[in-house]
Amino acid sequence: MGAMSDAARILRETFGYHAFRGQQAEIIEHAIGGGDALVIMPTGGGKSLCYQIPALARPGTGLVISPLIALMQDQVAALRAQGVAAAAWHSGLDGSEQAQVLRDFSSGALKLLYLSPERLLRDGTLQRLTAGTLALIAIDEAHCVSQWGHDFRPEYMGLGVLAQAFPQVPRMALTATADAPTRREIGERLELGRARVFIGGFDRPNIRYHLREGDGARSRLQAFLRSEHDADSGIIYCTTRKATEQVADWLTRGGRSALPYHAGLSADMRAEHQRRFQREDGLVMAATIAFGMGIDKPDVRFVAHLGLPKSIESYYQETGRAGRDGLPANAWLGYGLSDIVATRQLIAGGGHAAGHGGQRNGTEGGEQRRRLELQKFDAMLGLAESTACRRQTLLGYFGEAPAGPCGNCDNCLYPPQTFDGTEAAQLALSCIYRTGQRFGVAYLASVLRGEADERVRRFGHDRLRLFGLGAERSASAWRGIYRQLVARGLASVDFDGHGGLRLTEAARPVLRGEQRLELRAESVRPAPSRQRRGSTLVAEADRGLFEALRAERKRLAEQAGVPAYVVFQDATLAEMASQRPVSAEELAVIGGVGATKLERYGDAFLAVIRAST
Ligand code: ADP
Ligand code: ZN
Repeated sequence: MGAMSDAARILRETFGYHAFRGQQAEIIEHAIGGGDALVIMPTGGGKSLCYQIPALARPGTGLVISPLIALMQDQVAALRAQGVAAAAWHSGLDGSEQAQVLRDFSSGALKLLYLSPERLLRDGTLQRLTAGTLALIAIDEAHCVSQWGHDFRPEYMGLGVLAQAFPQVPRMALTATADAPTRREIGERLELGRARVFIGGFDRPNIRYHLREGDGARSRLQAFLRSEHDADSGIIYCTTRKATEQVADWLTRGGRSALPYHAGLSADMRAEHQRRFQREDGLVMAATIAFGMGIDKPDVRFVAHLGLPKSIESYYQETGRAGRDGLPANAWLGYGLSDIVATRQLIAGGGHAAGHGGQRNGTEGGEQRRRLELQKFDAMLGLAESTACRRQTLLGYFGEAPAGPCGNCDNCLYPPQTFDGTEAAQLALSCIYRTGQRFGVAYLASVLRGEADERVRRFGHDRLRLFGLGAERSASAWRGIYRQLVARGLASVDFDGHGGLRLTEAARPVLRGEQRLELRAESVRPAPSRQRRGSTLVAEADRGLFEALRAERKRLAEQAGVPAYVVFQDATLAEMASQRPVSAEELAVIGGVGATKLERYGDAFLAVIRAST
């Protein structure tokens, strides 16, 4: 009767899963044995089970520190649906509710107790926690201790007290943020310097990446959503608060349910929008990066970006919110030259990004930080402009080396065409120079194409030798070439807001013919496949049953007042639709059907399956 057989039994009976994922087994065994751990795993990797199972296997109550009340409540609801005695203790409870939670804790009736950091730091809390037995202490979203991250929570700095108050209790810190400085900060502040570190692989194989350069990102996104996600839940990250409002409005007018989310909304409204996103099927959130932590929804089917994130780290963290349930999901990004300019401008101005006020404006080291941020942004831009496998580039950035191209990103699926762009680049750069390094792309393209409008004539640029020399390319092809020249640093855009292009030092060797340039042709990708939503989750033949199961789930979730996925996740319903179990024994084999859910919901779902045959 080793620790592992206990863990495997709990995994099967309580959670209804048949195998551990990644490093879960090792982590759980280590914690059951009493060891401290720092667990770094990508979103969707399955961190929750790493502390929930040891809490169930060890005597006493597992204490979980979690940063958001809404998040806690949903986790508690999910645990209760699985038959686990769980409760949350936070400042939102009234006196008698708090007293009840504490009674259940000290009597040993609770297996998991979720606690907010501010509640923990209140006078008397530690004292009260000594009234029961602690099985382990888990600190979720541990990167919130990092002062430089955008999820910084000052109360997290105080969590070191747990080490002194409960030296015998194993502690575990968990996060999806991987960089070394954050890891060091977690180790120091939480006194986990000697904990064993578990770092999971970073790949998210079920996410398909699409990074689309060019104009009209909104309408291209619209087409993409129409063809692949006509009723799915998703997030659209926008760079400004105003854009979130516009996009939400635009989606709502198109008949979708959509809400905006940004730091300018009242706290109540933000909480309400987050709650609806978490609970409703098919809601789209148009958000700034203020929307992030606490999204614990397993069935987010797409994350889109309108405009460029500031770094690959942010991009990866944001897209990681898609497809936590392991089912196919899309990460879509659309950007053009103006987005490159906007982000560079934001960084150069030392402005903080929309949506949150980080403490990045300090003067000390300000210049150095700006340089670092520009480098990070250039890496992001490099990813966006690259013609190589996106996943290889992403994982390479995090220090992993996948064996080969992934076959599940846009560049793998529709290899982009490249061409020797040396002459085109020379012409484009000369045009910047000859017109005096002050005009924007639209004007430059007109001159190259030989369009002598009023403005061109007024400046006499219709008399330049290169006037009309680029007539064989469309204006949008020229815009694409200029975008690539800016992305590669051969030209820069004036930050005065007029968008005038200038040459940089790096343009010289190209103009002199000493350097050749390979450019990416305008994308002529096939129109998105005519897949319908759901067809990626279930075979066409099982689609009717899948929808019927979802309807049943919706009914049961509304009755119980919990998010739909608390009843069963999409992955479980998809497996039911394809396996069509007809008895309780067969149903119990489906992933995600534990003993309690079998008893509570088994008959209802079996009835739906029987009715469909
Ligand atoms: P994280 O906190 O790391 O983002 P979660 O703990 O929320 O991830 O787990 C992500 C999803 O994976 C959840 O839907 C969960 O039910 C599922 N999951 C976790 N472990 C397993 C497993 N061993 N087998 C099947 N599904 C799992
Ligand atoms: Zn690929």
